[in-house]
Amino acid sequence: MNTIIIKDGKEKQLLNHHPWVFSGAIEEVKATSASVVKVLTADLSFLAWGWYDELSHIPVHLLSWNEEEIIDESWWSRTIKKSILRRKEFFNDKSGATNAFRIVFSESDMLAGITADVYGKMIRIIISARIAWDHKDLFAKAIEDLLHPDVIVITTDKLYTKIEGLKETTLFFKDGEYFTPDGKMDNVFFKEDDFIFEVAPGSGQKSGFYCDQRDNRKRIEKYCEGATVLDGCSYTGAFTLHALRAGAKSVLALDSSDPSLRQLLRNVHINQNSNKIPENSRDKVTTKVCNIFEELRVIESDYFDVIILDPPKLAKKKSQVETASRAYKDMNRLAMKKIKDGGIIATFSCSGGVDLALLRTILAWAAMDSNVEIQILETLTAASDHPVRLSFPESDYLCGYIIKVIK
Ligand code: SAH
Repeated sequence: MNTIIIKDGKEKQLLNHHPWVFSGAIEEVKATSASVVKVLTADLSFLAWGWYDELSHIPVHLLSWNEEEIIDESWWSRTIKKSILRRKEFFNDKSGATNAFRIVFSESDMLAGITADVYGKMIRIIISARIAWDHKDLFAKAIEDLLHPDVIVITTDKLYTKIEGLKETTLFFKDGEYFTPDGKMDNVFFKEDDFIFEVAPGSGQKSGFYCDQRDNRKRIEKYCEGATVLDGCSYTGAFTLHALRAGAKSVLALDSSDPSLRQLLRNVHINQNSNKIPENSRDKVTTKVCNIFEELRVIESDYFDVIILDPPKLAKKKSQVETASRAYKDMNRLAMKKIKDGGIIATFSCSGGVDLALLRTILAWAAMDSNVEIQILETLTAASDHPVRLSFPESDYLCGYIIKVIK
């Protein structure tokens, strides 16, 4: 029997179902690497079943706190299938307005190191830990059995390949096996809130699209009628499309990625041709490849009615939270200074360490420095296909506010 003994005093969080065991909490390992282990407390009572991998930066991932459970191949398949079935309401959406959503959200869905998103007939799996890499075949088969997509694309998450000792990889899976596409695969089209988006299989950032902001994009619409809008860190234009549908006068989309902005223009074009947005929308959109921190310094003052600030994860780990807080403050301070009196800022953080409470403090600092009053109109989190698991606070990573700036 493979066993791991936890140091006395280090078991509390784990007994509360936090699934990560770091090396500092381990008293003794009697196990081969990359295998299921029985995790015991210091007095040798059962704590949980886990997966041990000495090469992972989290050497043990806890999987089940039920001693009767058997963690075999069928457990992995069942756990994936249960995760998918928990998204019933997304599959049952008769309106057909949205067919892009997350079906597996790693630890929040009792798995580790794997997220999976549906994009119409394509499924993207992102692997961020060795435990998920070792089980990817089972995951792909279980997902295919249940959903029968045209293709499953599996990629390793660049943010974690180095610390997990994985290679940057893209794999294609269909009919129970991996294959190499001959030539470039056709682009995939999917829908979110009745908009059409295009993505190239295996390309784009992260899983190719940010479904977590779905509900928040909808919520900015009511502020955009007749508005001059700045979509900061626009990626492929999901907020831009909502602003246009709501009747924005103009949208300036800023991003550091040229391919993303090109795709944004394609998405505007596609949705204009399909009458999802007003027919002169293309003329209202300007894009600029830039660094948002520099650009906010030079944009015109008292010009924008609505500013969206959706930067990438600025704190990738806890030790970066302080530096990231300064960056969030700088960005919000500039937006508060430049926006019109009575303007609306939709501001977000997807850094786990910068939560609603800290973001609120950051906004208070920014308001003091730019000499404005702020009203919080709406408090925002990730959409419900990215559930927060209470025993795993790290899953609460996306937050934001819609605020009104009073000068
Ligand atoms: N709002 C988007 C998602 C934004 S993801 C949506 O709804 O789909 C963050 C984006 O910020 C990425 O597209 C990335 O290319 C861009 N980015 C990263 N650093 C940046 C910087 N310094 N200035 C401008 N854009 C940046």
